Amino acid sequence: MTAVFTDQDSTRVGYARSILESAGIACFIRNESTQTLGISLLGYSHAAILDPALCVVDEERVEEARALLREHFGPQVEKTEWICPKCNESNPASFDLCWNCQSAQPE
Ligand SMILES: [Zn+2]
Repeated sequence: MTAVFTDQDSTRVGYARSILESAGIACFIRNESTQTLGISLLGYSHAAILDPALCVVDEERVEEARALLREHFGPQVEKTEWICPKCNESNPASFDLCWNCQSAQPE
């Protein structure tokens, strides 16, 4: 199982799922219903780590799924987690600032 797409907007994630399903790629959305709960538990103002994430079940089809999503969503799909240069925490691609120390994401 590999997450190939994540977005704060669950509508976009749902659209991405429909793209993969129409191509016959088995996938599911992680965190679809736990977002609010996660935020209250962790105390984050916004926890991108709990954003809905589209996951592909079959590892052999991950690249195919990424290529399909790239056609629809552009380079967002290419972004992966980044490591904060200041505190070495890993951050989801959708974070512009480190969740731990608020340093800006390096280019
Ligand atoms: Zn940091």
